[in-house]
Amino acid sequence: PFPPTYGLMGQPTIVNNVETIAAVPNIIKNGAEWYASIGTKESKGTKIFSPCGDVLYPGVYEVPFGVTLREVLYNMAGGIKSGKAFKACLMGGPSGIVVGPESLDRRLCSEDLPPGAGALIVLDEDKCIVDLMQNIAQFFYHESCGQCVPCREGTKRMLEIFTWMTAGAGSEEDLNLLESLANTMSLSGKCGLGQFAGVAFKSSLPLFADEYKAHLKDKVCPTGVCMMDKVLEEVK
Ligand code: SF4
Repeated sequence: PFPPTYGLMGQPTIVNNVETIAAVPNIIKNGAEWYASIGTKESKGTKIFSPCGDVLYPGVYEVPFGVTLREVLYNMAGGIKSGKAFKACLMGGPSGIVVGPESLDRRLCSEDLPPGAGALIVLDEDKCIVDLMQNIAQFFYHESCGQCVPCREGTKRMLEIFTWMTAGAGSEEDLNLLESLANTMSLSGKCGLGQFAGVAFKSSLPLFADEYKAHLKDKVCPTGVCMMDKVLEEVK
């Protein structure tokens, strides 16, 4: 359960983060109408984004809701390092969705591309999506408290499968298994951690199907990040 339904002493509880509290003085000073005039119809006010990863100027930027992903990544964070191409962005951290270049001109607001917590983990063209998923799976496996079986076992299995994939030992059937694990955890995890453990993978699958296929069928990591060639060579 989330705090709004079951929080402090078992009662509904509001948890305000610093970002919310920081907006209060200006609302008191300038009025609610002023604040409501910023942003979009469904997402009023400003939002703090923290682009990191392969951007030139990682940092913390406050912008009105409704700016595009491109504006944040290129106008504020300076674009992709070393003049490389943008490949993907993990929106909101490990529990968020993955978007590709087709989403650069989408607006960051409830009506279009929900920004989540505001973390924007950016990957350039040389990064591997399967390697990213293996890293995310490590995070969830480590963080799972083990209270409920689908999350405790599911995060472990996801990590195993992604590790096989990055070593060139996966099979195309693994994608179905991963989807099934993600769906099961989404329905049966007792808290948000388990429920969202498979979100990044599921969102990445239609966008990067060729990259998954290369790892699973052709046993090749197109970016050369995964050490699969070396592992396969050692096995021979
Ligand atoms: S879903 Fe939440 S409560 Fe259940 S094992 Fe995972 S972290 Fe623990």
